Amino acid sequence: MAQPNKVYQPLPLRTESDVEQEVQQNILVTSVDQVLNWARSSSLWPCMFGLACCAMEMIATATPRYDIARFGAEIFRASPRQADLLIVPGTVTWKMAPAVRRIWLQMPEPKWALAMGGCAIMGGPFAYAYSVTPGVNTLLPVDVYVPGCPPRPESLLTGLMLLQDKIKKDTIGKGWVRRDVEPQFQRYLPEGDPIRKELESLWPPYIDYDRPPQGDAFGDR
Ligand code: SF4
Repeated sequence: MAQPNKVYQPLPLRTESDVEQEVQQNILVTSVDQVLNWARSSSLWPCMFGLACCAMEMIATATPRYDIARFGAEIFRASPRQADLLIVPGTVTWKMAPAVRRIWLQMPEPKWALAMGGCAIMGGPFAYAYSVTPGVNTLLPVDVYVPGCPPRPESLLTGLMLLQDKIKKDTIGKGWVRRDVEPQFQRYLPEGDPIRKELESLWPPYIDYDRPPQGDAFGDR
């Protein structure tokens, strides 16, 4: 049997207030800076790297009790090429300095560094020892310092949150400036020292190593 033609009712015309309500519910206005900074600060991938006792506290931060995953930073990468956060947990000896600097250089930009514990900040209990650097800031630019010997996992998490705040203040308007520190090792390592030679190869070739380093031993001007 033939079906009668269906009569469709025209859709009701939307009023201006309907459209306004729809727009309010479905459009999010933000800036590129905010989106980018939110993405970067919420997905920091630390380098899987430890130097001494502080590294145990860093490992504890990744356990369920402290759960660094709450901050999106639980993906510790075994390759520096896939990491954008270098947590330096422990004593940085001169022997280890070229390795630390090399790991930093292998990380892609943008990247950040966090010095964890007294040793990484200024030598800790080994300060002024012939074999220990006076802080990892002599090798690479540090964004956040987390003091303690060792700092507890809560302190590391506080440092991480401070770093997130710092990242949120970035703007792409000024572009990403590659940061570096002036070499300081000439103060501590004699000429001809094999570690000094290795470190020289890890700074840009235009640096004049015969020129006395600028600022005091802590890099302040
Ligand atoms: S700061 Fe203390 S706990 Fe951390 S590496 Fe140095 S000695 Fe060990």
